[in-house]
This record gives sequence, structure tokens and C-alpha cells, in this order.
Amino acid sequence: MKKALVVAALLLLVSLALFLSTFAAAPLPPPAPLTDALPPASPPADMALFQLPTGITHRSAAFGYRGGSFRDKRDFVMTAVLVRHPRGDLLIDTGFGRDIDAQFRTMPFFFRVATPYERSSSAAEQLDAAGYDRTRLRAIILTHAHWDHVSGVPDPPGTPVWVTAAGGRFIRDGGWVSGLMRGFADVRYEEYAFDGGPYLGFASSHDVYGDGAVVIVPAPGHTPGSVIAFLTLPSGTRYALVGDLVWQLEGIREREERPWLQRTLADTDPSGVRDNLLRMAAIAARFPDLTIVPAHDARGFAGLPRLPTTPVR
Ligand SMILES: [Zn+2]
Ligand SMILES: [Zn+2]
Repeated sequence: MKKALVVAALLLLVSLALFLSTFAAAPLPPPAPLTDALPPASPPADMALFQLPTGITHRSAAFGYRGGSFRDKRDFVMTAVLVRHPRGDLLIDTGFGRDIDAQFRTMPFFFRVATPYERSSSAAEQLDAAGYDRTRLRAIILTHAHWDHVSGVPDPPGTPVWVTAAGGRFIRDGGWVSGLMRGFADVRYEEYAFDGGPYLGFASSHDVYGDGAVVIVPAPGHTPGSVIAFLTLPSGTRYALVGDLVWQLEGIREREERPWLQRTLADTDPSGVRDNLLRMAAIAARFPDLTIVPAHDARGFAGLPRLPTTPVR
């Protein structure tokens, strides 16, 4: 009996050690260098970007990437981006919407227990506070259809949501993780296709305005329909909104995947995530001035202004 107990305790210890080892640093091998030139872009002079932070979840670096510390507390931001463009504005992701509390109560129990969040003003409330003319908002583009990116979709009612075929399938068939999006009534979906050529190592692209200001590329893995948005300002400053390809910048800078548990629970296809992570690592190495913005890393958004709280036109 005693012997059985000792064996059980040893097994438990070994399992625990193995589990903890999945949080240790394990950088992916460096990708082949990218040789592409920076794609041309000629955004109009009055194109602008704004960040709309809508809340946070309390996490740690260890939660976000292999090699991160459990003691390194990090607030993961839930931030939408407004693209102002004379041919129609875009909201890229929505962050937490007006009804996030009620929405959150519909999520599975285990998920709610593991997800301590704090809300602030929704993107729609921030647009209203700035006196924003809603008729300018052409569409919402989702990096992917997880709850924390779509929560505010119903808030500017009637705004079309642009999805790819794969993004639409994930909303329909993605199980509980796309259930929030599926549950919104009367969403006007408009499908777009990757009708453009290769872009910085990605096989295809979609140039929203035809001027290189906003270029979307497919980046399946975290979800089958995940995309990355490359944004270029009139100043020449470039951003890559990578969604949840990584949760923190170190994911790309240090080529560290999510730890095994998070990867298993959060990613539909971890090998797809790995491929696209390495593509972004190659871009970061070739173009160090391009700012990479993981959807939940405040550091990526730091250079983007917030909307003024007095009306703008
Ligand atoms: Zn996600
Ligand atoms: Zn997310």
C-alpha cells in the first residue's frame, strides 16, 4: 500500500515537472531571411489610425509565450483600431462591446473562471464621445471571430462585417468559441477574397482601398479564418495587426509559441500558427521599423493615438 502511494506521488511529481517544462523557453528555429522589398503604398494624406482600448484581462507573461515568467504580470488589452480613410472608415476588431458582461455570462463555466477581465468604454461609446459620424464607418474587419474581438459587433448597428470564406465557415461551425458571433442577430456579412498577389511572404492578399494603405493577408492557425492587417500611414509608418497569432510581442521577437496548454486550448491548428509566426519573425528581422501589434499587447498600440473626447470632423 505504502509502495503504491510512493509510486503515485512520484508519477504526480514527474507529470507536474513535465507540465511546467511546457512553459520553458523553446525558441523556434529562425526562418530563412526575407528578401522582399517593402510593398508600395500611397495612402491619402488624411488617412489616420486610432486605438480604442475597451478593457483588459489579467494575465502573466507565462500565460502568453514560452519562456515568460509567472511573476511578470501583464494586462492583456482588448483594443479596436479605427482606420480613417476618405473612401470609408474601418474598425479592425471591436474589443469588448457594450454588452460584454451579459455576453460573458453565456460562456462556459471553466472559461469564465480562467478569464478575469475588466471592461472600460466600448469602441462605439468612444466613437460617440468623439462626435464621430457613424455614416463614415464602412465596415468591421475581424482578425478572427473569438469573443474578445467580436463583442462590440452589434454596437454600431447595421455596420457590415467583412469576412473571408474561411472566416465565415468558422463562425458557422466553430463550436462554442465562435458562438458569441453566431448568436448576433441581423449581422450583415460581406465576403471578401484574397484576390491580390503575394505580400511579404504571405501567399495572397487583399488590398482594401487599392492604395496599399490597408492590406489583409490570410494567417490561418489560431482559427481557420484568422487574418493579419498591414497598415501604412501617410508618414510611411507601418503596422501589422497580427490578431492572436501571438498574445505578446515576445512570441514573434523571441519566436516563442504559446505554452502547450494555451496552444492546445486556443489554437485550431498550432502548426499553422507556427508557420505564420515565423513569417512575421522574418518580416520583423527585415523591417525593424514596422510595428507589430498583437491584439492583446499594449506595447504594440502605444504609438497609436486615442480618439479625441471632443468632437472631430
Ligand atoms: Zn483568439
Ligand atoms: Zn483574443
